[in-house]
Amino acid sequence: MEKRSIKKETLTGIIKKIAGEMRVFAPVKEEDGVFFRVLGEGVEPQINYANTKNAPKNIFFPRTEKMMKYTRTDKGMEFVENGEEAKDAVLFGARPCDARSFVLLDRLFDQEKYKDPYYVDKREKTVILTIACVHPPYSTCFCTSVGGSPTSEEGSDVMLTDVGDSYLVEFLTPKGEKLLKYFGDTQADADAEAKKKEIAEKAASEIASHVPAKEIKTFLDENFEHPFWDTIHQKCLACGTCTFLCPTCHCFDISDEVKGPDGVRIRNWDSCMFPMFTMETSGHNPRPSQKERWRQRTMHKFKYYVDMFNAISCVGCGRCVMYCPVNIDIRKIVTDISKL
Ligand code: SF4
Ligand code: SF4
Repeated sequence: MEKRSIKKETLTGIIKKIAGEMRVFAPVKEEDGVFFRVLGEGVEPQINYANTKNAPKNIFFPRTEKMMKYTRTDKGMEFVENGEEAKDAVLFGARPCDARSFVLLDRLFDQEKYKDPYYVDKREKTVILTIACVHPPYSTCFCTSVGGSPTSEEGSDVMLTDVGDSYLVEFLTPKGEKLLKYFGDTQADADAEAKKKEIAEKAASEIASHVPAKEIKTFLDENFEHPFWDTIHQKCLACGTCTFLCPTCHCFDISDEVKGPDGVRIRNWDSCMFPMFTMETSGHNPRPSQKERWRQRTMHKFKYYVDMFNAISCVGCGRCVMYCPVNIDIRKIVTDISKL
């Protein structure tokens, strides 16, 4: 594995240089938060931020995506064009939990039998350059409870670790090595690697939230019907914030927008928190209240995904905890279940 050392003050210039040659998505300041956006001219990438408000999943799985255009003729339906082909890109500044979320999303969107060409095309052409969390950004972080860590390399192509006055830059995949030329020739020394090890242990020990996420599967297997499901949902507003900000939530809806003979097929994010999500054309709704919807969210993340893909579908980023307007806390739900 190639490893380089760069002076900290050179990082912004390197990212801007890459952005001059290809599309770079980076955390940028916008109003009251930091969001992943395409890095435009004159815009500063944020390096010493905590974590972004939005997860970077929209880069591979956009909130709204055109799948195809078609037109109706006398002979039937004629396809005008398919979705746009992705271009080479870099996602800079993902945190390890968000990089890891892509490995979890791959299990769904990039299976041997079922491949989502829209997701796979963008994913394959994007290099993920992650910044390790030297300190856990928030008290709500719980990555270590769900298989990750503040310095996890899963899902990253290049990993940057702040080791004092320099960054240790590790090129983890052949895709990541395509960026080698931007990072100079200074090889990382053994001292930087030793510091990284120290940092990794310290950062993991600083995670304040511990959630028994792996211990609730048996309960979920056996308790689709249980009085507990009546205790979490009452104050839920069904706003969908938790699912829209979540790096691993991936439900979508497909609709056709038609004008005259021309149509566009679009897919939009959807949310299991919305009442209409499971509404059938007959008017029957198999998940008639937030009780069934919250049970679904819990089951999907901690049981169904484990059954299907042998992985919990949560990376412990804490966004749903921080931004739920009524303070519903998935850590508490999991902890309460573990005590039943
Ligand atoms: S469920 Fe919450 S903590 Fe887990 S990945 Fe999604 S937003 Fe982050
Ligand atoms: S963010 Fe909170 S209120 Fe909104 S849907 Fe999720 S749990 Fe319900």
